[in-house]
Amino acid sequence: MDISQFRTWTMQSESDPDIQYKVMCENGKFFCTCPDHQFRKNECKHIKKAKRQLAGEQQMSKLFVFCVIAFGYFMRRGKSVKKQ
Ligand SMILES: [Zn+2]
Repeated sequence: MDISQFRTWTMQSESDPDIQYKVMCENGKFFCTCPDHQFRKNECKHIKKAKRQLAGEQQMSKLFVFCVIAFGYFMRRGKSVKKQ
């Protein structure tokens, strides 16, 4: 997973379910359309949530790569045992 790629998330406002904010990530920089980020330049809860989601995805893709490598290793081992 490449963090430099452009990503967007739609986050629902906790105080008003009718309001949705957009979180964007570009080259590792996070932006949000909510007032907390726009006016106070805070890392708002929407950005934090987006970061947590991104971290979770990276964790999953690492786990997936590990499984593929481990599977390939055991497959090769299994084949070489059969030959002998
Ligand atoms: Zn926000």
